[in-house]
Amino acid sequence: MDLLSKRINGMVESSTLAMAAKAREMKQKGFDVISLSLGEPDFNTPIHIQEGAKQAIDDGKYFSYAPVNGYLDLRKAISEKFKTENNLNYSPDQIVVSNGAKQALANLFLALLDPGDEVIIYTPYWVSYSALVELAEGECTFIKGDIKDDFKADAAQLREAISNKTKAVIFSSPCNPTGSVFTKDDFKAMAEVLSVYPEIIVIADEIYELINFVGAHVSFGSLPGMQERTVTVNGFAKGFAMTGWRVGYIGAPLWLAKAASKIQGQLTSANCSIAQRAAFTALTSSKEASKVMANAYYQRRQVVYELLKKIPGVEVNMPQGAFYFFPNVSSYFGKQGIHDATDFCIYLLEEANVSLVSGEGFGEPDCVRLSYAASEENLKMAVARISKALEKLI
Ligand code: PMP
Ligand code: GLU
Repeated sequence: MDLLSKRINGMVESSTLAMAAKAREMKQKGFDVISLSLGEPDFNTPIHIQEGAKQAIDDGKYFSYAPVNGYLDLRKAISEKFKTENNLNYSPDQIVVSNGAKQALANLFLALLDPGDEVIIYTPYWVSYSALVELAEGECTFIKGDIKDDFKADAAQLREAISNKTKAVIFSSPCNPTGSVFTKDDFKAMAEVLSVYPEIIVIADEIYELINFVGAHVSFGSLPGMQERTVTVNGFAKGFAMTGWRVGYIGAPLWLAKAASKIQGQLTSANCSIAQRAAFTALTSSKEASKVMANAYYQRRQVVYELLKKIPGVEVNMPQGAFYFFPNVSSYFGKQGIHDATDFCIYLLEEANVSLVSGEGFGEPDCVRLSYAASEENLKMAVARISKALEKLI
């Protein structure tokens, strides 16, 4: 007898986390696995942020439940950051701090969706978008970008996807898994389409804001008339190398911020008090460490691009931000029992001891995701191993 709910039985496991677990398991068995599957900085949290957390413990003032939506001074600092860095005006009561951007997104979908409501998802998309929409009993409508267009779906596709059930649109820029960055012109075209539908909420996931190689970051909500209907999602995991601390946040219209906070109040309460103090330190100190890390990703991107380009049958574009490549490997399908990107990843894990993530969970089954948040030495070795393993298939 299956006692589990339809909700959980219908849910797919996070493929990024599943692949990372598989790589970890193989390492524990003694295999020399290079894991390029998890989207996680290979840097340690900068020392001054660690010190901020230590100081908070020593202060002895932060051991109780924090306000559900986050400490006021942290929300003030986020509000100020939005103003000065993103040209966005969210007051502190429009900010909700959560257990990572992942919970921020879960709160939003649970707050917005009734069964059957649709969310338009720019595809390829980060794996949890579709799972969280479905968990909230919404329906996903995917609009897909081609590698030739840097994987960016255009405004005409957006217009076509809108129905009278559309509740929200979501994208990440810089994008996980493609590294693509929407330009101001891309956003203008999207805004023009959306201006006819003021009731559609835009969820702009900007968690890779600080890892952008093409210039100034543009926030969708900063476009004229867009902020009132835009939720800006961000967090500390990527730009500050703080994945494990679990601090993400939104700036949202007040009614939606209140709803997200209400859900969080029943699900988890506020996130960890000490992690919030570390986040406060990160936001109110120099961002030099983030720049140093972004610079390292920039160097590695070039190295990996040159190497991937040389592998026959691998089609790769140049990502503009984040720390991922998303090459099309479909030319290998049909060879030696490899039917799809998932088989391809399993082949590389077993044959080359390199772990990547299948594009299937990102909505693009012809591609695989490679995270280059790893040392240059490991990246070079990994691509050499991949290349050698693929030679055997030709
Ligand atoms: N959005 C995107 C695009 C991501 O890649 C991730 C992965 N971490 C998240 C949100 C969730 O981030 P967090 O670790 O803060 O939950
Ligand atoms: N977002 C990261 C990734 O895409 C972390 C894993 C996860 O939460 O999915 O790999």
